[in-house]
Amino acid sequence: MSEFIVEYVRALQVLDSRGDPTVEVNVATRGGGFGRGIAPAGASRGLREAIEIRDGGREYLGRGVERAVESVNKYIAPAIVGMSSYRFRDIDRKLVEIDGTQNKSKLGSNAITATSLAVVNAAADTAGVPLFEFLGGRWARSLPVPLLNIINGGTHAGNELSFQEFMIAPVASSTFSEAIRVAVEVYKTLKEYLKKAYGPASINVGDEGGFAPPMREVREALKAITKAVENAGYRVGEDIFLALDVAASQIYRDGFYLVDGKKISSEDLLKLYIDLVGEFPIISIEDPFAEDQPDYFRELRSELRGRALVIGDDLTVTNAEIISKYFVEGAIDGAIIKINQVGTLTEAERAIEVLKGLRGRAIVSHRSGETEDVSIAHIAVAYGTGLIKTGAPARGERTSKYNELIRIENYLSGDAVYTGRKAFT
Ligand code: PEP
Ligand code: MG
Repeated sequence: MSEFIVEYVRALQVLDSRGDPTVEVNVATRGGGFGRGIAPAGASRGLREAIEIRDGGREYLGRGVERAVESVNKYIAPAIVGMSSYRFRDIDRKLVEIDGTQNKSKLGSNAITATSLAVVNAAADTAGVPLFEFLGGRWARSLPVPLLNIINGGTHAGNELSFQEFMIAPVASSTFSEAIRVAVEVYKTLKEYLKKAYGPASINVGDEGGFAPPMREVREALKAITKAVENAGYRVGEDIFLALDVAASQIYRDGFYLVDGKKISSEDLLKLYIDLVGEFPIISIEDPFAEDQPDYFRELRSELRGRALVIGDDLTVTNAEIISKYFVEGAIDGAIIKINQVGTLTEAERAIEVLKGLRGRAIVSHRSGETEDVSIAHIAVAYGTGLIKTGAPARGERTSKYNELIRIENYLSGDAVYTGRKAFT
């Protein structure tokens, strides 16, 4: 097993999909294995997320990450060189230990996430197997249902839509590749629909590759997607379901929510969700309320009675204890899994395990600031989460994950199983 020994760790500053600097880590093992990890970055972040370290100052308008790069090269590298990448969980524990803070604010979550992913990728390469197989073993063969964000709003777009993400879930396909084909057909049909209805500027895209049309009302976006699904020849509520990420903390001010250009109360927002779920086949709602209103999550969940899932993201920040607490209290049906919200892959893995133990949904997710790192595609398959959220079927940092899942499906050939409707039942 000495081939798994980490011999080389080196970080550098590269760019993410928004043109912001981010941390890349490259790791080599004694056996000639190589792994790379690149940290993503969120725009709508939970208050309890692990902290990414940025340099401030004038360069890159303060967004540089040279200090986090230094964290890796100066403190992390000497501590993990000589350890076995096969035991990547020990290396993750080491990262947590040398950081020593609750929120990773000493080394920076950007330094820690990039290192954690680089190490496990190097281990898989040393073993000569794809990452999903290294993590999940030979029985890992479930391809997730993609939740594709095809209309962008909130902090991810320059329009007036108050909800952040309007997604489609192509559940009726028999393979992942077919689900992507269906999603692309809907995406392209939506583009035509928007161009006709709102003019050519409406087909500009937001941070996650979804269109960012000049709409104001959430119903308008849901209607446009419904129309596009039908025009593409599919049935909403049969072949394709809708999903929302409200990212409600971002629209919460002084006890009110800013929705459709109006200030509304938590009670009214609750009623709006119940109406929307009655009007459209919405299968899940992520962060429906601000993270300091878990009681309203609970209220919504009991009103919906399983008709749509209530999912935590900013509320739960990939933290196993927080997820467990809110699940047991009845506030959520599941949670978003973002490695850099918590720090290491091992901590994210714990969050997934806790959800599995509770029979909750784990949705592996990208960030709005992404990179060409495709580890999350492998992670979704490795742990059989059945769901992944990684943007529209457009923009390279989003399609890279979909393409990797297509490759994994191809690699598994007849053994691959597309999760389909089971992801929601
Ligand atoms: C999200 O909120 O689910 C998301 C992907 O956005 P961000 O990365 O900006 O938090
Ligand atoms: Mg979210």
